[in-house]
Amino acid sequence: MGVTTYLDHAATTPLRPEVAQAMAEVHGGPLGNPTGSHRPAQRAKRLLEEARDEVADLMGRAPGEIVFTSGGTESANLAVFGTLHGEWGAGGGGDRGVRMTVLRSAVEHPAVLESCRAAGERLPVDVVALGVDAAGVVDLPALAESVDERTRLVAVMLANNETGVVQPLAAVIDTVRDCGERALVLTDAVQAAPFMDLARATMGADLVALSAHKVGGPVGVGVLAIGPRVDLVPHHYGGGQERDRRSGTQDVAGAVGLATAMRVAAAGRASSVEVITRRRDRLADGLLSAIDGAIRTVAPEIATLPGHLHLCLAGVEREELLVALGDQGVCASGGSSCASGALQASHVLAAMGVPDDLARGAIRFTLGHGTTDADVERALDVVPAVVASLRRRA
Ligand code: PLP
Repeated sequence: MGVTTYLDHAATTPLRPEVAQAMAEVHGGPLGNPTGSHRPAQRAKRLLEEARDEVADLMGRAPGEIVFTSGGTESANLAVFGTLHGEWGAGGGGDRGVRMTVLRSAVEHPAVLESCRAAGERLPVDVVALGVDAAGVVDLPALAESVDERTRLVAVMLANNETGVVQPLAAVIDTVRDCGERALVLTDAVQAAPFMDLARATMGADLVALSAHKVGGPVGVGVLAIGPRVDLVPHHYGGGQERDRRSGTQDVAGAVGLATAMRVAAAGRASSVEVITRRRDRLADGLLSAIDGAIRTVAPEIATLPGHLHLCLAGVEREELLVALGDQGVCASGGSSCASGALQASHVLAAMGVPDDLARGAIRFTLGHGTTDADVERALDVVPAVVASLRRRA
């Protein structure tokens, strides 16, 4: 196998060595089911609760607000269905017959988008899309106009997975509070987690979704932080774990892995943000000057995550480009892909008004804790040459 230049950290990140070690230590001793009463069970419970305390601290939450899940997708589903079934929902008490409204930004990840769509099909819920501007930032005046006493949930992600654009979440929360006191705010902080101080950035959000594998932790573990205003109805029933909010035996090693990954990311955040930004900017400058007609999809003055570089390359088909780059060991992404791996037209670029011919050549490079200067230099050698050869063939 040749050299691999991994620039797809928004898809998943390499497991941090500290995480692998912490998880191995969990499995290195006797590990029971945390609900049991013997010593291995007590050890499991202690490790789980220590992980919960640590995650809560890093998120600025009380430990009782932290529910461990199987990842960002489950957290989003639990947030959407758990709140829509509560109080006003079908079968609930309250205002039977009154339709609820869910507002969600037009650029949400499919985890939120599809949960809302499914809720709209099954429950007395009207789902309303909140538009974004050309940079992909939510339209705050439109939000203020749309929130009313029927609004149950407003979903605006902290940072976008395709473009890395950071949303003005504090202003979203203020707007929602000013307009509709019953509305809850859900934020998907999955992409932001490695780079932002979550305690500060998500302060006031009622529901916050995270995923371990985007922070250098294991796949298959996530968190939903559930604030005190939320009356959540579970959608997993069973042994009543996670304070009855998510039944099922907890993944202790996974929770420890998630807490370790978040701790390591938080401890090195200031310097890693600086280094990753510098590398991303070097990649951006180099590619923009070497590739004719390359456009940076989001202007540099718009706040984005440090690792994201989204480009539109006219005259190139992104699937062909990704395959050709993959052949050279350069791993990037076209934005959102479905389970089969096929690329779909990007709803994010469509919401931003990016013309189809440009969106066809859209490519996302995402740098992270695994990226080196050598990766950037290699991408600068390979990408322009691959683009030139595809354009010659076209
Ligand atoms: N939300 C965002 C913004 C994501 O980028 C992802 C993963 O791609 C998810 C949610 C889903 O997380 P998971 O893969 O843990 O289900």
